[in-house]
Amino acid sequence: MDVIDELVGNNRAFADALPRHHLDVRPRRRLAVVTCMDSRLDVFAALGLQDGEAHVLRNAGGVITDDVIRSLAVSQRRLGTRAVMLIHHTDCGMQALTDDGFRAELQEATGVAPAFAIESFTDVDADVRQSVRRVRRSPFLLHTDLVRGFVYDVDSHRLREVEVAD
Ligand SMILES: [Zn+2]
Repeated sequence: MDVIDELVGNNRAFADALPRHHLDVRPRRRLAVVTCMDSRLDVFAALGLQDGEAHVLRNAGGVITDDVIRSLAVSQRRLGTRAVMLIHHTDCGMQALTDDGFRAELQEATGVAPAFAIESFTDVDADVRQSVRRVRRSPFLLHTDLVRGFVYDVDSHRLREVEVAD
C-alpha cells in the first residue's frame, strides 16, 4: 500500500462522514488566494475558509506565472471572483535555490534547458511586492483594485501584510 492508497482510504472515511450536498461553482467570498505549495500552510484552516468560498491556486513559491494569470482570468471572468490575496511564507524552499543553479542542474540531468522561469527569490517581502504588481498590472484581469500580499510565518502561523504602494 503506497501513500496514495492511504489517502484514497482516508477519502472513503471523509465522504462517509459527510451528507451529500452541492455548492455553487462560484466562490461565495468572491476571492482567489495564490500561495506556495508548502506543506505547512493549511490555507483553509489558517484563513478560516470553508468549502465553496474561495479559489486557491498553489505552486512552488506562490509565483504569479502565466498559468496563475490564466487561472485568475477564468476565476474573475467566468466564476465571479474580485479580490486576490497573495501569501508567501517564511522558510520557503524557493529561497534555498538560485535560478541559474537550478536551471543548470535540470539541464545537466536531462540535456534539456527548461522553457520555464525558475523564479527563486531571496527577499520574501520584495517577492510579495513583485507578485502583487504582476496581478495589478495584468491586462487579462477584470478586478485589480483589491489585491493584497502577505507573508505567513510557518512557526507562529501569523500573517503579516506587505504594503505595496502601486
Ligand atoms: Zn514556499
